[in-house]
Amino acid sequence: MRSNLAGPRLLLRRLREVMAEPITAQERLDKIVVLIASNVVAEVCSVYILRADGVLELYATEGLNREAVHNASLRVGQGLVGLIAAEARPLNLPNASAHPGFTYLPETGEEAYNSFLGVPILRAGRTLGVLVVQNQSHRTYLEDEVEALQTTAMVIAEMVAAGELEAIAQEATGLDLSRPITATGAGLSEGVGLGHVVLHEPRVVVTNLIAEDTDQETARLEGAINRLRLSIDDLLASGEIAAMGEHREVLEAYRMFAYDRGWIRKIEDAIKNGLTAEAAVEKVQSDTRARMLRQTDPYLRERLHDLDDLAHRLIRELMGREHGPGIGELPQDAIIVGRNMGAAELLDYGRDRIRGLVLEEGGPTSHVTIVARALGIPTVGLVDDIVSLADAGDAIIVDGDTGEIHLRPAADLENAYAEKVRFRARRQAQYRRLRSKPSVTKDGVEFSLQMNAGLLIDLPHLEESGAAGVGLFRTELQFMVASSFPRMHEQQAQYSQILDAADGKPVTFRSLDIGGDKVLPYLRSIQEENPAMGWRALRLGLDRPGLLRTQIRALLHAAAGRDLKLMFPMVAEVDEFLQARALVDREVKHLRRHNHPVPENIRLGVMVEVPSLLFQLDELMTYVDFVSVGSNDLFQFFCAVDRGNTRVAERFDTLNVAFLRALKTIADSANKHHVPVTLCGELAGRPLEAMALIGLGYRDLSMSPAALGPVKAMLRTLDTSRLSARLLPRLEPGHDDNNIRDVLKRFAAETDVAL
Ligand code: PEP
Ligand code: MG
Repeated sequence: MRSNLAGPRLLLRRLREVMAEPITAQERLDKIVVLIASNVVAEVCSVYILRADGVLELYATEGLNREAVHNASLRVGQGLVGLIAAEARPLNLPNASAHPGFTYLPETGEEAYNSFLGVPILRAGRTLGVLVVQNQSHRTYLEDEVEALQTTAMVIAEMVAAGELEAIAQEATGLDLSRPITATGAGLSEGVGLGHVVLHEPRVVVTNLIAEDTDQETARLEGAINRLRLSIDDLLASGEIAAMGEHREVLEAYRMFAYDRGWIRKIEDAIKNGLTAEAAVEKVQSDTRARMLRQTDPYLRERLHDLDDLAHRLIRELMGREHGPGIGELPQDAIIVGRNMGAAELLDYGRDRIRGLVLEEGGPTSHVTIVARALGIPTVGLVDDIVSLADAGDAIIVDGDTGEIHLRPAADLENAYAEKVRFRARRQAQYRRLRSKPSVTKDGVEFSLQMNAGLLIDLPHLEESGAAGVGLFRTELQFMVASSFPRMHEQQAQYSQILDAADGKPVTFRSLDIGGDKVLPYLRSIQEENPAMGWRALRLGLDRPGLLRTQIRALLHAAAGRDLKLMFPMVAEVDEFLQARALVDREVKHLRRHNHPVPENIRLGVMVEVPSLLFQLDELMTYVDFVSVGSNDLFQFFCAVDRGNTRVAERFDTLNVAFLRALKTIADSANKHHVPVTLCGELAGRPLEAMALIGLGYRDLSMSPAALGPVKAMLRTLDTSRLSARLLPRLEPGHDDNNIRDVLKRFAAETDVAL
């Protein structure tokens, strides 16, 4: 049943008057409760505000004992008020005392009241308090009355958010908005960053809540929804999906929601009740966020997230706001907090001001992580709900080593972390001192430690880290950050700049590894059931030889008169390499015929990252000049665990016996055929894992620049023959305990290896 709509609108008009009055926060709250009590004809109206210590304190009441204000309190989860706060949803009860959650607070004198309606005071999905009305009679409150209460709750939420209530908060506890929060996610890029929150695609704060003219607001909403639909349709049609850092599937879901009548009707209803169009969207969004926090089914949660994102877009559309913060607006110590982002979006921020990155998603080998690691940005992923918990400008600490983040940390914690940062700086200084020291083990075995790179900005690390060369240059990163397909001469210019910057140190280029999760904004992406195993990397290069030929030509020009090392990704059959090599040979002939200079020395190699190659090693080694093990993909396909899927990514230990045997087989075969072998996956950059690789016979590792110091420190304290003697027998059958990680840790502790 619905009552006439003049009621809620009248209430809002009165609320606006109260908000405009030059009175104290307490007086304003007192007036608001009187106003609501009369509007819904209730004998009681009370406001409870959530304090930082998790207690809901009575801040104002009409009808209950006034002495109880600032004295009566409940914990979250305690009583009906506590239940509403805990579950972030309304309770509408004709007979409150019959509810199992009912708790009687003697100081309030509420025993006489039977019916009870309470709604959470929400802002961006966070519960800030509870608003309650009560009556003596047994009545069920009408839908419009629930709406009126929710709308008033929004107005109170704005008062809390604007800091108005701080003045009347008890000093020792403060309000919940400023509560320190510690959360644990997954450490993705090591290091510690202290700074202030910058929200990636931030929420727009709606402050103009109450409408002057309802019809005009409805028309504004209609206009904005039409523009939103058009922009999503355009995105889907144009294939510029990756430019927005989004997936097609997400956009399809957006489109579905943007045409969803139920969602739009809810927003229209809120406008009819007197809210501005943006406040109406915010109100519906707040309810969605609250549902999202309660939702345990990951699929539904994801869809609610999409709807929430869509609401953001609609609010921005209504308020004419851009999507991201201007780069100039970044603080000097920015910690970017977002749901997820693409590698290009991270690069857009520029390295100088970024101290850390926190994501609700983000896997250990996803591209944004690889770029964050390349830039040395401490990163933590898989932090639930951080976007709604954090406010722009909040102090925050990111610990990429432990995967912890501390939002609004207490002063002593901040000091402890500042000390940790200083300690790391000292350790980094030690690593820098190692820079010019040889990579030789205690028993005199020489190693080559190289670094991975993908952009020109990585090259200064070559000097800083003391790397022997670039063991993996991911050429696709330049393509991913460009807004259109780089032409031949642009590619050539980039490659020669890289070779110039390397200043004679070897660089191993890898031909384009696009497809799969590595999408180019300007290349129409094709929907594939299983993109990691789909049309990607060399497969795409061989099917579209124009693309690969252009890249090869650019590389040959850039390396003219110098050495060119080039390897091909995702080779599954030796013949694929032979086809790629034929392309290179043809290009060289073509250049010679036209009297163009060519590289002095061309070496062509293969990335071993598809398990089928393990059974073609003898043939492969006879054709290639070198091989490089891509352990990220090899592990993904070997153990059938999607490297980007955080639910399974950590399921199997990378130091499992089967995988180590596979890695040893590759190293043995390369050594037997005298083919140089490198390992350039993320494994090489972790000291314990690198130690395992050394035990298996690898002598050439390529890793992120930040990992070079720790790996070199480990290596220089290691006795390789003792290590192999300990490790290799463990790979033979017949051991009950197959935990190689523990075996290696014990070995390191016993023999004083610096891990
Ligand atoms: C790998 O697969 O291990 C690798 C080094 O390549 P990428 O991470 O770029 O796929
Ligand atoms: Mg790979």
